[in-house]
Amino acid sequence: MPITIQVRSKTVEQTSVSKFKAILKRHVQARCGCDFIFDERARTVLHLEIEPGSQQDGFTIRDDDNGLIMIVGGNFRSIVYGLGKLLRTSTFAPGRFTASSWRGTSVPQNELRAVYFATHFFNFYHAAPVEKIVEYVEDLALWGFNAVVVCYDMHHLTGIDTPEARRFIDRLKAILTAAKETGLRPGLTMLANEGYANSPVELRADQSFPGTRHIRGGYGVELCTSKPAGKKLALQWLGEEFQAFSSIDIELIMLWPYDQGGCCCPECRPWGANGFVGAAKDAAILARQYFPRAKIILSTWLFDPGVDEGEWRGLTEKLSAPQDWVDYILADSHEAFPKYPLGHGVPGNLPLLNFPEISMWGMNPWGGYGANPLPGRFQAFWDVIRDKLSGGVLYSEGLYEDVNKIIWAQFYWDSARTARETLREYVAYEFPGCNVDEVAEGIMALEEGHREFSTRKRWRLKLRSNARAQKVANMFDRETKLLPTNIARSWRWRILCIRASLDLERFTGKRYPNAAVKAWFDELTAIYHAQDAEGCVRPPRLETGGKKLVSKRQ
Ligand SMILES: [Zn+2]
Repeated sequence: MPITIQVRSKTVEQTSVSKFKAILKRHVQARCGCDFIFDERARTVLHLEIEPGSQQDGFTIRDDDNGLIMIVGGNFRSIVYGLGKLLRTSTFAPGRFTASSWRGTSVPQNELRAVYFATHFFNFYHAAPVEKIVEYVEDLALWGFNAVVVCYDMHHLTGIDTPEARRFIDRLKAILTAAKETGLRPGLTMLANEGYANSPVELRADQSFPGTRHIRGGYGVELCTSKPAGKKLALQWLGEEFQAFSSIDIELIMLWPYDQGGCCCPECRPWGANGFVGAAKDAAILARQYFPRAKIILSTWLFDPGVDEGEWRGLTEKLSAPQDWVDYILADSHEAFPKYPLGHGVPGNLPLLNFPEISMWGMNPWGGYGANPLPGRFQAFWDVIRDKLSGGVLYSEGLYEDVNKIIWAQFYWDSARTARETLREYVAYEFPGCNVDEVAEGIMALEEGHREFSTRKRWRLKLRSNARAQKVANMFDRETKLLPTNIARSWRWRILCIRASLDLERFTGKRYPNAAVKAWFDELTAIYHAQDAEGCVRPPRLETGGKKLVSKRQ
């Protein structure tokens, strides 16, 4: 018997109602493993209404006068958030869906809750079929994100009119359009001095960055914007990019100083307080000509790394008089949050955003060994900064950090919410039928294994037998047998199981890699659509050399 449901609305646009229904259907089917039909005779009725004046992005679920379940919000995305809450508090079983009895109002505390899809290196966002990315955008929206940012990464390309660039732009526009259709705000990010692969050598930036070359620098193709011709070309290329995206109402522009990017020539340095500020201001003013309501996010990534080069102080001075070209300051680092804005306040007294590094920390290749849940690490970061922020933008390289994204989405929504609470809600929703306590604890234990390896910077190590890894792998094996097949085969479950299995292989000191490891790497590669990806964003590639499997990347 199919599950039946009705969806009604007078105030939500028909295209948005269709989107709502598509998300609802996909999520219920995935969890119940049966057909799901919209039927006007169905007993379960969802009644969606937009009420202008409702709190921004907040939603209410209540019973209406006829006993129907009403989801009310001030805009379409708030209704999507209401759907997320309704789904996560509903009950799923094979062939059965029992709609939630949760009623109440929920309003997010942080205004900007964005995820940045790093669209490069032929990772998931760069290479997967667009419809998979569209579904993923919808999944993230259910947890409270309100913006998706992508990057037209020029260094892969040789100009805006090349077929490769056109294909890439079409892909990015499809992702941003999907975000918009789900009610999310579309955004673009870029370096203030970005360059194509064939940028003129004489206009290129000096990226020798004495003392910090190992963490700063770029692809060597970025431009020096202190050279008049370099500045002119940077703005020409940005203008061409903005023109190419002008059919989309871009709402966020994020401008970056480093990693890659920047110039340390005498005229530009210190880049963060000098060349960058001028280049970013020019880029912001240009962007607003194409996207008048775009908010400008100025990143301070890698400012004063380890030593005070005057970047934070210089930016503070430059923004001390009111400026109308910048709306937010973004700050963060690979490790602890930068001290300067915590101790001295935010330049220009602007709203502060963070940039959680959920992708790369302690695992190389990124995602190469499956899921990388880090709830404890993020809780510790959050406890320090949660009263200082107006939101944040996550840095994402792919699917493997799904749990991490959801933890941050919920921090931004409700700053008192703990990572552990979110993790439990995630497990209960994504893996209905599992033992939530055991799986949540198992995921926390994966983080312990991650910490041990992160200090060594290498994941392919033969360590002594470890009882914790054995226990976690056993738990995932046991739960896999209990779960309905559709859940046990879902990619979210598989990336956790594979990570637990790989941890066990690494800890027990067996010959590594072996055939089982190869099969898991191949499965991860397929999940990520990373067959053609560069080495940093795909599992190690194992090749048979005689009888021995040899890793092509350590
Ligand atoms: Zn320069």
